[in-house]
Amino acid sequence: MSLLGGIEAGGTKFVCAVGSDSGEIAREIRIPTGAPVETMRRVAEFFCSGAMPAAIGIASFGPVELDRSAPDFGSITSTPKRDWRGFNIGGTVREWFRGPVAFETDVNAAALGEHRWGAARGLRTFLYVTVGTGIGGGAMVEGALLHGRAHPEMGHIRVPHDRARDSFAGACPYHADCLEGLASGQAIERRWGAPAEIIADDHPAWKLEADYLALACANWTYSFSPQRIILGGGVMRAHLFPLIRTRTAELLAGYMATPDIVEPALGIRAGVLGAIALASDQIRPR
Ligand code: ZN
Repeated sequence: MSLLGGIEAGGTKFVCAVGSDSGEIAREIRIPTGAPVETMRRVAEFFCSGAMPAAIGIASFGPVELDRSAPDFGSITSTPKRDWRGFNIGGTVREWFRGPVAFETDVNAAALGEHRWGAARGLRTFLYVTVGTGIGGGAMVEGALLHGRAHPEMGHIRVPHDRARDSFAGACPYHADCLEGLASGQAIERRWGAPAEIIADDHPAWKLEADYLALACANWTYSFSPQRIILGGGVMRAHLFPLIRTRTAELLAGYMATPDIVEPALGIRAGVLGAIALASDQIRPR
């Protein structure tokens, strides 16, 4: 059985793990995201301090360059995190690791992890969306992860913004009131003056949040025709799901069937397990 390495590169922390192709994790570390060179030095230290895996998968925050023929393949492109802009994560791993390295968006990798071991087993077309500091979505379409020209950016779609109901201008540095600008953890904190984690379940923040996410789910349903939409990330709570399901069905108005809208089965491990699944595919392509 091959050892596999996974790196979930996030804007606030990196999770590195060594595991197996049945999705079991043997050892794991969390590294706060600091300056790129120092952070990647600690990543290398973790892998080099034990038995070296046969392949490594990287699930990265982004946007990222996924085109293998591009000179900057493996780089982060236009992140608001200035130190990381243009930094080549894949390239720095190749400096010390000689085996195959796979590079994906964090959300596509999480989708792959949920497909292999979680809430999307047996499905061919589904979405994995994370609602956290930002909002991002990965898509598996007809059994393959969707990239297209770059990769989907489902968090930056436009949703109707009723300023009479919600006067908050929006938090996205690029588009102000796109979905991420209205419904991310950052938007919630700025609109209500408190982080999502401490806002009580009966606060009006959650009905507004569910309505924005339902608008997004309806748009994603029309665009991708997914069998299921998995909603994960630090903002999601159990009580949001029935609100989102009901509102999405209302918006779809019987024109299309409402997909299942569910929680991730792998929880906060979806990203790093997805990275291990990527590594596994390097050794044994499916
Ligand atoms: Zn945006």
